[in-house]
Amino acid sequence: MSNINELTITEAARALRVHKFSVRELWDATAAIAIAKNKDIFAYLELFDANDVDIASAQKRIDSEGDAAPLLCGIPLAVKDNILIKGKIASAASKMLENYRASYTATVIEKLQDAGALFLGRTNMDEFAMGSSTENSAFGTTRNPYDKERVPGGSSGGSAAAVSANMAIAALGSDTGGSIRQPASFCGLVGLKPTYGAVSRYGLIALGSSLDQIGSLTKTVAGSQILFNTISGRDVRDATTIPKELYPFKKVPNKLRIGVPRALLEKGVDADVLAHFNEKLTALDAAGHHIIDINLPTSAYALAVYYVIMPAEASTNLSRLDGMRYGLAKCGETLLDDYLKTRSQGFGPEVRRRILLGTFVLSSGYIDAYYRKAHAARAVLANEYLAAFKQTDVIAVPTSPSSAFRRGERNDPISMYLEDLFTAPANITGMPALSVPMGMVDRDGTKLPVGMHFTAPYQAENVLFAAGMAIENIHV
Ligand code: GLN
Repeated sequence: MSNINELTITEAARALRVHKFSVRELWDATAAIAIAKNKDIFAYLELFDANDVDIASAQKRIDSEGDAAPLLCGIPLAVKDNILIKGKIASAASKMLENYRASYTATVIEKLQDAGALFLGRTNMDEFAMGSSTENSAFGTTRNPYDKERVPGGSSGGSAAAVSANMAIAALGSDTGGSIRQPASFCGLVGLKPTYGAVSRYGLIALGSSLDQIGSLTKTVAGSQILFNTISGRDVRDATTIPKELYPFKKVPNKLRIGVPRALLEKGVDADVLAHFNEKLTALDAAGHHIIDINLPTSAYALAVYYVIMPAEASTNLSRLDGMRYGLAKCGETLLDDYLKTRSQGFGPEVRRRILLGTFVLSSGYIDAYYRKAHAARAVLANEYLAAFKQTDVIAVPTSPSSAFRRGERNDPISMYLEDLFTAPANITGMPALSVPMGMVDRDGTKLPVGMHFTAPYQAENVLFAAGMAIENIHV
C-alpha cells in the first residue's frame, strides 16, 4: 500500500472501515507531511492543531456505523482561506483580513462537519480570489509540486498544491472564473465548479456574487462526486440555492455526445496541449462516444464580459471593507482619510486594480456602455450554450491554453486574464464544469499535467462525472 496520505477519498474511506488504520493515524500521516512540505510548497497559511479537531468522534462513528457512516467521515481536508470556520482566521490571503476571525461557520463546512470530515488547515490563495497563479497572496506564493519554480495556478492554488503534494486527501476551493479548474489542471487533479446555486455560498467571502461557487479539488472523479453530494443542496441562508429534489436533472446517456467548439481552439493553445486533447477525443470516439463540431461564437467575448461583471461585483462586495466594520482599520485625519489609508494599505495591487475597473464600469457615465452591455452579452452566451446542448451532452475544451507557467512570468495583468479563456464561460452562464487530467507535457525537461474541461447543462453534474470517468478510463 502507498503511504496513507496518498490515498483517494474512496480508498481512505474503505481502509478506515476495515480498520487498516485509524482516523488518528490517517490524520497524523497527512498532517506530518503537510507540516514537513509546507516550508517548500507553502500550500497552507495555517495548519490547525490536532487537539482542536474531533478525531475521536469520527472514529467512534466509523466503529459504530460501519458502512453506513458517511464516506467523508474521518477524512482530512484542506479549506481555502475564504471559507468561514467559526473562531478561525479567514483572511482571503489579504492584509485587510489578516486577523479577522470568523464569527460563524459556512454551510459547506457545517455539512462536512455533519459528515464527520476533519479540517487540516486553511490554504493560500490569490488575494480575495483574484488571480490565476496564487502570486497575488499578501502572504507569499505557493509552489507547484511538479516544479517549484512554477505556479500552482489560482486562485485556489494552495488547495490544489495541498492535494497534489498529498498534504490533504482532498480540498475545497472557490471558483468565480476558473479558480478551481485551472489549478486542478496545473496540479494534475480533478476540479469541479458546480451549477450556480447547487452549493450554498453562505460563509464564502464573496468575490463576484453572481459567479461564485464553492467546489472541490480531488484526486479522482469519484472523490469529486462524493464531495459534491455532501456539500450541495438548498440552504435557506442562500436564496440562490437549488433544492436537491431537482437533481438529477438529466439521465446519463450510455454514449455521450461531446461538442467541440473547434474555432475557439485555433489560436493560443499550446501545440502539445492540443495534441493531448485531440488524442483523448479520438479515444472517446473509439469507445463509442460521439464527437460533434459545434460553434459558440459569443465565447470570443466571454473574457471581456467576465472582466466587466466580475470587477463590478467585486468592487461592490469589497466596499464593506472600509475600516469601520471588519478587518484592518487605519486612522487618518478625517473620515475620508481613514478610508484611504485603510483601503490602500489593506488591499494589494490586483485588488485595487479591480476595484477601480469595477467602479468605472458601474459609474453613471459608463454603466450602459460596459456593465449593461456585458449583461446582454451574458444572456446571449447562455442561450448559445443552451442551443448547443440540444445536440450535445457535454462541451469539451482544454482547461487552460498552457501548462503551469513560471513564477513571475505573467507580470502584465492581461496575459494573466487570458488564463480564464476556457473556464470563465461556465461562471458567466452558471453551468457546471469539471477539469480532469488528460496527460503530461514536457517543459524544460519537467513533466507537467494538463487538464480537459467539460461543461454540462444546468444541474447535470452527473453527466459531467460520467464524462470525467470516461477520460479516467482511457489508458493510452
Ligand atoms: N482567474 C480569474 C480571476 O482572476 C478567476 C478567479 C476566480 O475564479 N476566483 O478573476
